[in-house]
Amino acid sequence: MVDETSLVLNMSAQGLRPIADGIAWFESLTSDQRHDALSRLAMFCTQAGATSENATEAIRRAGIRPTHTPAVLLQRGRMEVQLAKIVNLPEDERLRSFRLLVALLGVSDGRRRARLCSDGCGHAWHHLGAPAEPSIRLITRRDEQPDGP
Ligand SMILES: [Zn+2]
Repeated sequence: MVDETSLVLNMSAQGLRPIADGIAWFESLTSDQRHDALSRLAMFCTQAGATSENATEAIRRAGIRPTHTPAVLLQRGRMEVQLAKIVNLPEDERLRSFRLLVALLGVSDGRRRARLCSDGCGHAWHHLGAPAEPSIRLITRRDEQPDGP
């Protein structure tokens, strides 16, 4: 069972939804919800075993400058500690933090998936592409659905 927030975050990270959609969703949240979304992203990145090598690639993918605060934080110190700092950055850093952590999740979870999940796995978030999942339909925009025959 994957709740809507986790669904949006993982689909954005895996490129199953355009990042522009993820950003629009993030911006529609309240301040508390944005903080919650960033906390979850940080948790997912930790679970995915994100490394500083992944961070370098994530910064490039996210299209933010290596000198922006979340990127600077991500490149130094212990990953878990730095992620917690990023989650708690002020409001004006949150969108960049979101883009960066979505990219980091994409990189680190993608690596883990390729390494450990190639023969199938029980990670619910690795099976989000399946059209039979009713929860997917809820957030898929109707105008993107092809018309039936
Ligand atoms: Zn998996």
